[in-house]
Amino acid sequence: MPELPEVETSRNYLKQTLLNSKIISVQFNVLKLRWKINLDIKFFLNNMIIIKIDRIGKYILIKTSNKKTLILHLGMSGYLSVSKFNYKKIKHDHMIINFERKNGEKKKLVFNDQRRFGHIDLYDTSNLNNHFLIKNLGIDALSEDLKIDFLKKTFSMKKTTIKTVLLDQKIICGIGNIYASEILFYSKIYPLKKACHLNALETTLLLDKIKFVLTKAILNGGTTIKDYKKPDGKVGYFKQKLKVYGREKLKCYDCESIILKIDINKRATYICPQCQKK
Ligand SMILES: [Zn+2]
Repeated sequence: MPELPEVETSRNYLKQTLLNSKIISVQFNVLKLRWKINLDIKFFLNNMIIIKIDRIGKYILIKTSNKKTLILHLGMSGYLSVSKFNYKKIKHDHMIINFERKNGEKKKLVFNDQRRFGHIDLYDTSNLNNHFLIKNLGIDALSEDLKIDFLKKTFSMKKTTIKTVLLDQKIICGIGNIYASEILFYSKIYPLKKACHLNALETTLLLDKIKFVLTKAILNGGTTIKDYKKPDGKVGYFKQKLKVYGREKLKCYDCESIILKIDINKRATYICPQCQKK
């Protein structure tokens, strides 16, 4: 499943290829992904210029010259690719945007999502914070607004496990299951520890490792987990560098203890019992 680093990698690529381009036409090959798609999107987007490409959590926000924002969520298996104009559509290509770059070059942006958990929507840019998927999002994990005082205060009120709190998109958005295990390993925090029991030092370290792990993943182009592809079709290579996620029964790189896998709220969680003591 694409997490923040994969989505940010996609955004960076789209910025390079799509910015200042004109949308020629939009084609939908499906009526519904996770939710029904508003097919009027194509009328709103025709002839518009792409002026900005943002991200919040796992949402890519493509802003256009008519003050609209195309909201894209990649779901479990979605990916974006930019293809030549003579590209022939393949299975699960649900949306294709034909666009013309500033230099006159014509290309296609393709949204492919095999498992159909993704979402495509269009909303007024000025009102974006009221969109039903955006309005409840917490602070983006890489935003400068994510500060230690906020975490200390929030954690002190949470009696659930720190792993669960890290995955709660209403508190911090963008951290998914893979990077939650990684961040807790780097922070040497036991994932079942209650958030309210974290001390100031642990919270400070955790904030530092949230930034570190996600930034490192972006530099490496995201993970190769399952079907994820970068928009240029190249596959990221961060998976080999994961410290605990997916490494059950293997030796910890740091201390050689055997990595354990446990379930927290039915989500696989990987721990080094020596590095992350209870
Ligand atoms: Zn270890």
